[in-house]
Amino acid sequence: MRRKEKRLLQFAGLLIAALLFLPNVGLWSLYRDRVFENSPEIVEGPGGIPQIQGVNVRPQKDAQVGRDGMRRKDWHDYEAIRRDAARSGNGEQGKPFPLTDTDRVDQAYRENGFNIYVSDRISLNRSVADIRHPNCKQKLYGEKLPNTSIIIPFHNEGWSSLLRTVHSVLNRSPPELIAEVILVDDFSDKEHLKGSLEEYMVRLPKVRILRTKKREGLIRTRLLGAAAANGEVITFLDSHCEANINWLPPLLDRIADNRKSIVCPMIDVIDHDNFGYETQAGDAMRGAFDWEMYYKRIPIPSELTKDDSSEPFESPVMAGGLFAVDRKWFWELGGYDTGLEIWGGEQYEISFKVWMCGGRMEDIPCSRVGHIYRKYVPYKVPGGVSLARLRNTGSGMCMESKHFSSGSPVRLETCLKGRGEAGWSHGQVFTFGWREDIRVGGPMHTKKVCFDAISHNSPVTLYDCHGLKGNQLWRYRKDKSLYHPISNSCIDSNPTERKVFMNTCDPSVPSQQWVFEKTNTTILETFNRNSN
Ligand code: UDP
Ligand code: MN
Repeated sequence: MRRKEKRLLQFAGLLIAALLFLPNVGLWSLYRDRVFENSPEIVEGPGGIPQIQGVNVRPQKDAQVGRDGMRRKDWHDYEAIRRDAARSGNGEQGKPFPLTDTDRVDQAYRENGFNIYVSDRISLNRSVADIRHPNCKQKLYGEKLPNTSIIIPFHNEGWSSLLRTVHSVLNRSPPELIAEVILVDDFSDKEHLKGSLEEYMVRLPKVRILRTKKREGLIRTRLLGAAAANGEVITFLDSHCEANINWLPPLLDRIADNRKSIVCPMIDVIDHDNFGYETQAGDAMRGAFDWEMYYKRIPIPSELTKDDSSEPFESPVMAGGLFAVDRKWFWELGGYDTGLEIWGGEQYEISFKVWMCGGRMEDIPCSRVGHIYRKYVPYKVPGGVSLARLRNTGSGMCMESKHFSSGSPVRLETCLKGRGEAGWSHGQVFTFGWREDIRVGGPMHTKKVCFDAISHNSPVTLYDCHGLKGNQLWRYRKDKSLYHPISNSCIDSNPTERKVFMNTCDPSVPSQQWVFEKTNTTILETFNRNSN
């Protein structure tokens, strides 16, 4: 009897142990199924390494010692990759959000230049597709890498787009490589960026918030963050980005290799309408600029692509927003010129300096970060550039250049009320710059067509901007006339026929008087320095 009881007890004990611990029977298996339900299938990849959707799920090897004596390791966070791969829902896996007409209203874009309604309905922790070159999945990077401060300047950024930036960085970076995340507020006036943001960030101990005392513009805001940073490296991001899988080690590895490196991730496109995540047209390209100092991307020359397009390649200039640099080297370079206003040009300044001071600049194909390219600039740009609507004092109508194409006439139309997109898309916004020509659009939307007149009685027509003054040189005079020196005549207008044409200057007629709406007088004075 006693022996039987003992047996029974032993059997019961074994059963409980089996329920708790046996891999495919026990409670553990129930737990696992619940946590990882929807888990994509694990298949065998090259070399027998298990993979999910082409990404290894187990470190292929421990650290390896390379020919140079450097110990390298696999930095992938397979647990996080597996968690990401199992996510489903709005925008997950970087898929476009199915837009309806109610999501597409102008109001959704007004504050941010991208569709904030859609952004608000996508998880702050959403997954993105791993669109890296397949070779990136096998690469090893230095076992010891410098840590970095992530610096994110923002001016009136949307709540969900800013938070998704921070979450994606924390979710997809090895914690030991993140010294801190510094959010630098460039004098935003949106309520959600004040107390609520501070409250929210209490739960993320690595995040600090700094604030400028007045509107400084992107460059001085970045500098404030850089000055406060403690990390060995500083990494700048825009306030509406999403870091992709294993984005950070490939950047830091190049800086560890040569501290005079400035390294840029591939910048992917997050669509401003539906938030779909994809590569830029042509994907990897070199940075360059044209004769007008506009940034452009050009194909990588074949001698630089080597045999492996997943390897870092050198670039003359960077795109500007997203890069990592050794903190001390950044200051040895002199940081940024503090006289730069708002944004623009800073990418050339830092690019030229790094090359001239014996450094190097590289793009790193295995590091990818998504960026929301705006539809239009939503914020005010004080003092920096001069944008204006040109209103005729006589008729009260505005100049318009709806067709943006070379050869199309400038016309007189009813002034549009709305700011932002309405002004851009109807061609009622013009830029006056250092070239002393009049261009259609704002600095982000310049169409590269300019006001052009061929004689003292010709219509005012748009032609490709040539920057050579001549027919495209204009002056705005104190008597409110728009003077064309080469033909010694002024812009006149006929409201009934909606025409804009050249005529003998007569400052007393209202049809020749123009006022700039929302423009900057200092800039106009500079523009006219030699004319009055
Ligand atoms: N920004 C800023 N102050 C400004 C303008 C912009 O701090 O006066 C920030 C902005 O929030 C973003 C970064 O600088 O994080 C780059 O600006 P933006 O994204 O508007 O430029 P884009 O990417 O459109 O060229
Ligand atoms: Mn941006």
